[in-house]
Amino acid sequence: MPTGPVRAHVGLGGNIGDRKANLETAISRLGETPGITLVARSSFIGTEPWGKTDQEWFLNAAIAVDTTLSARQLLETCLAVETAMGRVREEKWGPRIIDLDILTYGDALIDEEGLQVPHPYIAEREFVLEPLAEIAPDLMIGGKTVRELLNKD
Ligand code: ADP
Ligand code: MG
Repeated sequence: MPTGPVRAHVGLGGNIGDRKANLETAISRLGETPGITLVARSSFIGTEPWGKTDQEWFLNAAIAVDTTLSARQLLETCLAVETAMGRVREEKWGPRIIDLDILTYGDALIDEEGLQVPHPYIAEREFVLEPLAEIAPDLMIGGKTVRELLNKD
């Protein structure tokens, strides 16, 4: 049964080096990947570090893509872009050049080893919701729109 591309949303963030350039590079690389078409991008939003607060501020963004890749292939693409850009995984929530998280993949609910979609912490992370609300305010996540999740407090 033929199916068309899936609309997915990816959250981006980083707090090492030239954060703006790193977001631009990551967005370009995703957009150049066969099977991924960039549909929309948010502005870049500066945010205080979360979880581990003794580090540089983050710059965050969100993009919408249409993709013929599976969710797992999209994840592998995100992780490959992170690695190619020099990301080394050290401490959890620690400083990073670039972090690419799949926020949504169509209306898929995925809970597998190494892949949870929608990304589990979206609703409680303003630095994810704020850029996402710029490009997809009416996107439903767990029964609520992104706008509602952002305005709840
Ligand atoms: P975090 O983004 O939580 O700070 P990492 O970027 O180091 O942490 O990601 C750790 C792992 O999270 C990745 O290796 C990946 O397998 C897993 N993961 C689970 N769900 C997702 C998702 N929706 N998007 C990106 N990574 C995910
Ligand atoms: Mg991540």
